[in-house]
Amino acid sequence: MDQLHIETPYVPHRGLPASGRETWVKMDAYQPTGSFKIRGVGRLCQVLKAEGASALVSSSGGNAGYAAAYAGQALGVPVTVIVPSTTPAFMREKIAALGACVVVEGDVWDQADALARAIAERGEGAYVSPFDQPQLWAGHSSLIDEIVAQGPVPDAVVVAVGGGGLMCGVAEGLQRHGLKHTAIVAVETTGAAALARSMAAGEQVTLAAIETIASSLGARRVADAAFAWSQSRPVVPVVVSDADAVRACARFADDHLALVEPACGAALSLAYDDHPALRPFARVAVIACGGVVVSLEKLAAWRAQFGV
Ligand SMILES: *Cc1c(COP(=O)(O)O)cnc(C)c1O
Repeated sequence: MDQLHIETPYVPHRGLPASGRETWVKMDAYQPTGSFKIRGVGRLCQVLKAEGASALVSSSGGNAGYAAAYAGQALGVPVTVIVPSTTPAFMREKIAALGACVVVEGDVWDQADALARAIAERGEGAYVSPFDQPQLWAGHSSLIDEIVAQGPVPDAVVVAVGGGGLMCGVAEGLQRHGLKHTAIVAVETTGAAALARSMAAGEQVTLAAIETIASSLGARRVADAAFAWSQSRPVVPVVVSDADAVRACARFADDHLALVEPACGAALSLAYDDHPALRPFARVAVIACGGVVVSLEKLAAWRAQFGV
């Protein structure tokens, strides 16, 4: 099977304050879909097609839905993407432009996801989860295969956490390469800190609501597998503000000439702000997970909103 994602650059981070630490960036904003999601979603869609699926159904108005539409088009399989009413019109258009059928259902992701699962139950399409499926994590784990091959190997990997699919992939990749002591620094924004809250409680916590501009981090509950990794290997939870995330997006645009979502900015903010959670580490890799739910205009509006 030819993979649908590309190998992305792993480069020294530019523009950081002096810290005595080496910081590298894995540039998944350069994927053909603008985010890492195509690694896992692409693999999952290929497996589903090989298993006989003649249609696919996804429940994300963000990067997972966009990646599913891209994968379906590449594989010649029709895709339906169920999105909540909060999905901006420009994202519905971007997804539809890849040939997918976009259906609006409910006001929150859980409602859109329930319809996607119901369609799959009826046998009208194979379900493509945005973050909770083993083939998805296997696809995301290719990030670590590439980092190990490109070098140098870090002693901590910084990832943004929404539903925790990216984190599961990174954990799986680190285990596969015998890097069980390499820490995962798991970053969420204040209004979407389901993993940090769960780790503090020692059990899975479901948030009552999501309150963040980092829409790609908006899962009320992380995948059980993500919580399980946090209990069985080094995972350092960090929570940052929306303002921290936006400031990092703006700096990253200047330093690396790439526009990324606040979800990605949340992860990037740690190195920019020399966050205490990074102190124990000599060499850090930051996953620049990217995201297409952003524009120069949106970034300008967020900067104005947060006085950045
Ligand atoms: C999906 C996504 C995340 C979070 O990934 P999870 O697997 O849901 O934890 C972070 N950043 C971007 C840009 C995303 O699209």
